Amino acid sequence: MLRWRNLWLLLGLAMSGGLARAADAGAFFSLHQIGKGIWAAIALPGSHAGSNAGFIIGDDGVLVVDSFEDPAAAQALLKVIREKTPLPLRYVVNTHYHLDHVAGNGVFQAAGAVILAQRNVRAWERTENLKFFGDKITPAQRKTVQSFVLPSVVYRHGMELYLGQRKVVVRVLPGHTGGDSIVVVPDADVVFTGDLFWNHSLPNLIDADTSAQIRSNAVFGHDYPAATFVPGHGQIGHAADVAAFRGYLLALRQAITTAQGQGERGALLQRSVLNRLKDSYGSWNYFDYFAGRNIAQTVAELAGSKRLPLPSP
Ligand SMILES: [Zn+2]
Repeated sequence: MLRWRNLWLLLGLAMSGGLARAADAGAFFSLHQIGKGIWAAIALPGSHAGSNAGFIIGDDGVLVVDSFEDPAAAQALLKVIREKTPLPLRYVVNTHYHLDHVAGNGVFQAAGAVILAQRNVRAWERTENLKFFGDKITPAQRKTVQSFVLPSVVYRHGMELYLGQRKVVVRVLPGHTGGDSIVVVPDADVVFTGDLFWNHSLPNLIDADTSAQIRSNAVFGHDYPAATFVPGHGQIGHAADVAAFRGYLLALRQAITTAQGQGERGALLQRSVLNRLKDSYGSWNYFDYFAGRNIAQTVAELAGSKRLPLPSP
């Protein structure tokens, strides 16, 4: 997710034969079993995976959660799945449209999977992702984003899937983009949260409604108090980690309104809020990269001037 600017290099590689590279999981993610037949693929820092992913093996097939920012990472995950089970790959659920979660869709579709997502993911995947390249987007970058594989089955509020007897609940919750899904395996008390939850990491809030995201994280703690949570970014966590992340979002909003109450605006407000947050959150991942952006974007959100992607009509 931090690698937007590098993405064209990665995808350029993939398009020019990178997919033929040895798909080595060790280059992209660490694999963690978190339930019977359930695996989390946690992105290695600085690797081209870009985000976390995972897979769920049922009685008669496999469901994959998210597909990384580089097709080579998706190939590595496919190889791991093939080592674990001969069962067919049935579904991929994209937790949201951001390119670090969808760029490998084509790898799994080619292997037989149907791509599923909330309906706004289909509306935004090939358009809203262009913004991450900025004004200087090249024709090749544009072409890459415009050829991402879209979900072919979409839903509005969620769905329930069965891998044989194994039930998987796909639930839509608001906050990170306006088209966010979580994937729940009730029999194992596992929740893949997508980017609604970042574990001890500052989040990307470019499309976020933080008040909704705070509510969604409260829902996690309430509805799944003993669950194993796989965040979109960061290590596997539990309810206390979700609560800490929710605490960050609350602190961010509170620090901004406090500073505004003291008459601070603009650069002065940016600086003082940053200093306030640094005491508690300076050690979290991506603090230096995201803190300033989080503040500016949340100031806009609180002022009602933040541009959010428009939902699919
Ligand atoms: Zn992400």
